[in-house]
Amino acid sequence: MKEVILIKNGELALKGLNRRTFEYILIKNMKHRLLPLGKFDFTVAQSTIAVAPRDESIDLDEACEKISKVFGIAAFSRAAAVEKDFGAILEACETYLADELNAARTFKVEAKRSDKKFPLQSPEICRETGGRLLSKFPHLSVDVHSPDMVVNVEIRDEYAYIHGRQIKGAGGMPVGSSGRACLLISGGIDSPVAGYMMAKRGLELTAVHFASPPYTSERAEQKVHSLLGKVAQYSGRIGLWVVPFTDIQEKIKDCCPEDIFTVIMRRMMMRVSQIIAQREKAGALITGESVGQVASQTLYAMICTDKVCGMPVFRPLIGMDKDEVIAVSRKIETFDISVLPYEDCCTVFTPKHPRTRPTPDYVEQAEKAFDWEPMVIEAAEKARFVNINS
Ligand code: ATP
Ligand code: MG
Repeated sequence: MKEVILIKNGELALKGLNRRTFEYILIKNMKHRLLPLGKFDFTVAQSTIAVAPRDESIDLDEACEKISKVFGIAAFSRAAAVEKDFGAILEACETYLADELNAARTFKVEAKRSDKKFPLQSPEICRETGGRLLSKFPHLSVDVHSPDMVVNVEIRDEYAYIHGRQIKGAGGMPVGSSGRACLLISGGIDSPVAGYMMAKRGLELTAVHFASPPYTSERAEQKVHSLLGKVAQYSGRIGLWVVPFTDIQEKIKDCCPEDIFTVIMRRMMMRVSQIIAQREKAGALITGESVGQVASQTLYAMICTDKVCGMPVFRPLIGMDKDEVIAVSRKIETFDISVLPYEDCCTVFTPKHPRTRPTPDYVEQAEKAFDWEPMVIEAAEKARFVNINS
């Protein structure tokens, strides 16, 4: 029996005129994600996209697993695609949905007929199908209000689709439909989650990681590759720029007051990241900061950081508790990687007593101690590119 995956694309339905563009991006993303499994055909009709494998040997379980991580999909289901003959449709309901019907106690049939040439109307389809299933599965009874299972019969142009339960999709918007942003990623728990959350809102990701060899190791960078690999399962391909940060960090350490080391370092990161973001045509920065989480993430520190930013800084974790962030990181499978113990450039020079209420004036004055501008430009120029796929 021919099987397809039917995509219900949630929020997209609200987008009115833009809808076609969104669907186009969603299909492009699905095509790309499914590519390792083989070729698929995509057909759009009435807010549903049918994804049909060209080759019967393609593993639909794997395809569903990949589809479950594509943003812009509210729900999807596996469906049997059968010829539009009522006998064949009844047969398919019985056999294709047998497991689900056996496990249920109550059911109802819902029919949609977009091919008006089909001889039976929707109420008749429901009645006839219901009657047949009741006679074949005598343990079942009909419950139209809250059935254990819904048998869906959709009569479309080419096929009739038969499907049972829906699987929840990843939600959100198709990646690329909201533009591109630059994720500052450390090896920690927060920033991969921040990237995941913004990709869910349709932003394509470019990533920047600051490395400070020899203080930070090759393994710390590898960890970032692994983290982004997990995020890329949802966001699609991510271009990563690894910035050499040692010189700037050493200079800050030698020239600036220790209590604002982190704030100055963060401002330098923002400056370098903006140069890379502009080069990559990204319109915003993303960080994993959350108010009050650590001394460098007080409101006052963020005010100082934002002073050097000429583009929006998205901080999707801003109001989240650590345990909420951890729950997401477990879900997207970054947690176990994040807790590996390799040193990040931030931890290398952490001040003993950071100032929790720095002011922009004080920080600007302190930064005058060295000529940072050429160093920032050089760091952005020397950044090394790594292509990250899921
Ligand atoms: P994370 O878990 O994301 O490391 P954190 O709670 O450890 O966050 P900080 O180390 O203070 O917080 O970093 C705050 C944010 O700054 C990070 O979420 C990230 O966006 C950015 N950041 C920190 N270190 C780096 C780095 N080495 N490269 C790129 N961005 C970084
Ligand atoms: Mg960190």
